[in-house]
Amino acid sequence: MVQDVIIAGGGPAGLTSAIYTARAGLKVKLVDPVGAGGQAGTTSVIYNYPGFPNGVSGLKLMEFMTDQAKGFGAEIDFGEVSSVKQQGGLFSVTIDGKDYEARSVIWAAGTSPKSLGVPGEAELVGRGVSYCATCDGPLFRDKVVAVVGGGDSALTGAQFLSGYAREVILIHRRDEFRGGLANVNRVVANPRIALKLNSIVQEMKGNGLLESLVVKNVQTGSTEEIEVDGVFLYVGSVPNTAPLEGLADLTANGYVKTEQDMSTDTPGLFAAGDVRDKLLRQVATAVGDGAVVGWSVEKYIIDNFR
Ligand code: NAP
Repeated sequence: MVQDVIIAGGGPAGLTSAIYTARAGLKVKLVDPVGAGGQAGTTSVIYNYPGFPNGVSGLKLMEFMTDQAKGFGAEIDFGEVSSVKQQGGLFSVTIDGKDYEARSVIWAAGTSPKSLGVPGEAELVGRGVSYCATCDGPLFRDKVVAVVGGGDSALTGAQFLSGYAREVILIHRRDEFRGGLANVNRVVANPRIALKLNSIVQEMKGNGLLESLVVKNVQTGSTEEIEVDGVFLYVGSVPNTAPLEGLADLTANGYVKTEQDMSTDTPGLFAAGDVRDKLLRQVATAVGDGAVVGWSVEKYIIDNFR
C-alpha cells in the first residue's frame, strides 16, 4: 500500500509532523531505529519547553507526543531508512531492507553524537565511555565521571550525572561555555561539579574498563592523568543524512537545505528538526518545524494527488 508520507525520525520534529499529517487524514508511517523519542527523549529535564514552569522529563514529553500521533492514526514503528529514491512521482523508501512506497517523505532523522577520536575511545565505548548521560548515568552511582564539552548537552549531562556520581569533572577546551547562561549558572552553582577549563582529553586509558584520562591544559601545555570511572562525550553532532546524498541539497557539513515550507530541492521530499540547516536546535524549534512541514505535506498531497 502506498503511504501518503513516510517520516524518518521519531524526535519532536518527526512526531509533530506525524500529529499534523495524521490529523489531516493522511496515511502516515513513521520509523525510527530506536523507537520514538529522539535525542529529546534522552534528556533528563527540559527546562525551556513552554508550558512546563518546573521543567519536563524529556522521556515523558516524547511519550505524550507519541501517544498523540498514534491517537490521530499515525503508524509508528522501529526501523532504519537506508535509502530514499524517487521513481515516477513516488518515493521508494528502504526500511530495514524492505521497500515501501510513499507519495512524500519527511526527513527528520536528527543528528548523532560526534566522537572525540582520541586513542582508547573506540575500544572503551560501553566500558566507561558513553555519549548519553540519561542512558548510562545510573551505572555510575557514587563513582567519579568526567563530561567533555561546553555546549548545552554537556552542561545538562553534567547536572544529570551529579545526581548519581560522587564527583563530576566537566572538561572544556575553552574558559567560556557555548551553552546558555541558565545552564551555565546551574552547573557553576552545583557543588558536585568541578570545572576543568582550557583543557582537552588526549587519551583514554583502561584495561577492559576505562580507568583514567590524559588531559592537557591548552594554556600551560602541561598534561596530567586523572582517574575516572566514566566519561561522557558531548562534543557536537553529525547530521543523519547519508540516504539523502544525491537527492537533497546538503550543506558542507551534511545538513539539509530547506525552503521556508521545509521543502528540499526534490519535490515531495521535506526535512524538519535538527537535521535541517537552521539557526537554533531546540525542542521548541523542532516542534515548529514539524507543524510547518505537516501543513506543507498536506498541501503537497492535495495539490498533486487528490
Ligand atoms: P554544541 O553546542 O555544538 O557544543 C559542542 C561542544 O563541544 C562545544 O562546547 C565545543 O567546544 C566542544 N567541542 C567540539 N569539538 C571538540 C573537540 N574536538 N574537543 C573538545 N571539545 C570539543 O553541541 P550540543 O551541546 O550537543 O548542543 C547542540 C544543540 O542542541 C545546541 O543548539 C544546544 O543549544 C541544543 N541543546 C539545548 C539544550 C537545552 O537545554 N536548551 C540541551 C541540549 C542541547 P567550543 O565551544 O570551544 O566550540
